[in-house]
Amino acid sequence: MNLNTVVEVKRPASADEITHWRDGYAWLAGGTWLFSEPQWGIDTLIDLDQLRWPALTTSPAGLEIAATCRIAELYRFGGPAKWTAAPLFRQCCDSFLASFKIWNAGTVGGNICMSLPAGPMISLTTALEASYTLWPRGVPPREIPAVEFVTGNNTNVLRRGELLRSIKIPVSALSKRFAFRHASLTHLGRSAALLIGTTDRACGDLLITITAATPRPVQLHFAQSPSATELRRAIDAKIPADGYFNDVHGSAAYKRHLTAYFAEQIRAELAHPGSAK
Ligand SMILES: Cc1cc2nc3c(=O)[nH]c(=O)nc-3n(C[C@H](O)[C@H](O)[C@H](O)COP(=O)(O)OP(=O)(O)OC[C@H]3O[C@@H](n4cnc5c(N)ncnc54)[C@H](O)[C@@H]3O)c2cc1C
Repeated sequence: MNLNTVVEVKRPASADEITHWRDGYAWLAGGTWLFSEPQWGIDTLIDLDQLRWPALTTSPAGLEIAATCRIAELYRFGGPAKWTAAPLFRQCCDSFLASFKIWNAGTVGGNICMSLPAGPMISLTTALEASYTLWPRGVPPREIPAVEFVTGNNTNVLRRGELLRSIKIPVSALSKRFAFRHASLTHLGRSAALLIGTTDRACGDLLITITAATPRPVQLHFAQSPSATELRRAIDAKIPADGYFNDVHGSAAYKRHLTAYFAEQIRAELAHPGSAK
């Protein structure tokens, strides 16, 4: 839709050109959300496209994803064969309530900064123990763990004018075995629950990341694979019955049920050392 309040679109070649931030400014990534409803408080868009950050950079340390990387680019990315968790990229892209048309415009960083419970790029990068590089205005960059970024439904730790620059996923997480579970009330609908489990082959630990069912990501780490009872107790201790996200995509009680059901499936699957992934 047209944004009638917008009177200027800035296209900086470097983020440093934006030295002063004022009310009415907004970073523009793919625009799939920004152009989907009126933005009464915004008069100036600052387009990130001209920054020309390389979308995906591999190194011995792992993968760096630019915030401006399109969902479609991530979908097409395979990664080295030893990155056994790389199939999660596609599975999480497939968890959008969105067609490939949205994938060609929407960005990984835009999805993270929207900070919706059903943001699959949040699920992906949190489960893969990513860190986010943030560029505040006027002070040095800072790094934060992905799991700490989203603070609630559509809220996060970004300060005024702060930019998400990139997402770094360590090779240690990319080399783990994983299990993925996802449910939506309708085909290609918004996620009601998206859970990812990962385990390190050497130490046999278990990391379970719960998203969509809760307003912000919840992570449980077990040094050794827990029993079914231990897992259920740990979930209930971390998420009270009223701590689930209640919306048109599923009641809190339904999402609580899905969370326990999927977490147990993940535990059982990853406890099997012979599992293919
Ligand atoms: C049909 C449809 C289906 C959708 N389905 C889903 C879904 O299933 N799950 C979901 O989570 N969302 C969904 N969305 C919402 C949205 O389109 C996605 O979250 C998308 O990934 C946002 O990315 P974008 O690049 O288009 O962001 P934009 O619309 O450009 O920006 C979104 C917000 O993030 C800010 N922003 C963007 N990039 C940065 C950055 N690097 N640093 C700081 N701030 C930044 C912008 O200022 C804006 O406030 C859907 C939208 C549509 C139209």
